[in-house]
Amino acid sequence: MTPLDLAFDRDHIWHPYTSMSQPLPVYPVVAAYNTTLRLDDGRELVDGMSSWWAAIHGYNHPRLNQAMRAQIEQMSHVMFGGITHPAAVALCRRLVAMTPQGLECVFLADSGSVAVEVAMKMALQYCQARGEKRQRFLTLRNGYHGDTFAAMSVCDPQNSMHSLYQGYLPNHLFAAAPRCRFDDEWQEEDLADFARLIGEHAHELAAVILEPIVQGAGGMRFYHPRYLQGVRELCDRHDVLLIADEIATGFGRTGKLFACDHAGISPDILCVGKALTGGAMTLSATLTTRHVANTISNGEAGCFMHGPTFMGNPLACAVASESLAMLQENRWPQQVASIERQLKAALLPLTAQPEVADVRVLGAIGVVETRRPVNMAALQRFFVEHGVWIRPFGKLIYLMPPYVIEPAALQKLTDAVAMAVEQSELFLA
Ligand code: PMP
Repeated sequence: MTPLDLAFDRDHIWHPYTSMSQPLPVYPVVAAYNTTLRLDDGRELVDGMSSWWAAIHGYNHPRLNQAMRAQIEQMSHVMFGGITHPAAVALCRRLVAMTPQGLECVFLADSGSVAVEVAMKMALQYCQARGEKRQRFLTLRNGYHGDTFAAMSVCDPQNSMHSLYQGYLPNHLFAAAPRCRFDDEWQEEDLADFARLIGEHAHELAAVILEPIVQGAGGMRFYHPRYLQGVRELCDRHDVLLIADEIATGFGRTGKLFACDHAGISPDILCVGKALTGGAMTLSATLTTRHVANTISNGEAGCFMHGPTFMGNPLACAVASESLAMLQENRWPQQVASIERQLKAALLPLTAQPEVADVRVLGAIGVVETRRPVNMAALQRFFVEHGVWIRPFGKLIYLMPPYVIEPAALQKLTDAVAMAVEQSELFLA
């Protein structure tokens, strides 16, 4: 890529959460393989992000590429209305088999946010079919569920976009974020606010929606499995559906195949995305129980009212199926466990640094929370100069590398983080 292209990019192309008038710098990546991103000037960076939780097997994987090539030879796309195809059937068979018990009916969609929209619509239609006017959702503070409107309405009201869209967003209920950390001794009062809210509002709740165990973009917080068990029990007691958003946590990232497995619970509705295709294509899925699916289907509408144009895209399904086949070969538990050990050994000592407020590690996720917000542009440049790709935000510098990362490459990432937190000029006043 020439500098001219970067000028065009700056003038004409939006990037995620970026200003068009004062954009932060972007780095031109021309190739990616295994755990490496290659810049146009030939520099190679070790990837610490898995492209936002997605590229779990690394980039340009021969098996994923082959699955896509084989599918292209047959058809890249065909509509899903009135048609089915082998790639969708193979993928959904795997999903039903590997997800928590009871989730039997799969709705394929095109991104994580849409999977959340679908889940919320399922809950609303379920209640409607039962003749109940329940239209509110209960969720947790510090949550994040995506950028479309319904998804946004259940994101943390403080650190998300609620204030910008006031008046457009429905008024849902937010329980205090869990305070008991994953490894802490469990404190029953952690659930008190949630228990109070579900008790008071069950009659008007379509569902509870949360990210199990790991609250991602809303703060990278890891909470206690007993909290999730308590939520499941309370949902059962009050006859409220539970939606688990495993778009970030699904497929091994937290050390269990699904974060719900830490608590041994099954949700009524489950959202997956991101790593579903190994990061090769955009695809998501919303799974639910036969009971929910049948109730919706026997309701007034007689069907579930959603059907995107690219639903069940064969190319995405084929690569997702291969990615899940690779996961089912079961190398990920050892890979994730060894990443966790190495992240703990390298990052936990950083707690002693003055710029560092907290360090936490779960599975293949390492988080360094700083006392001051990072200077994004300066820190990003620092990381690139040190040969790593790490994208911090706010007070969070975090690593979630592909599962296939080698110890030496992971050390390059953790060394860069350790160096960064010693440079006070990389943080805002
Ligand atoms: N839910 C969670 C928990 C997420 O982390 C994300 C993406 N960061 C989404 C939903 C939205 O997914 P997408 O960006 O694919 O729309």
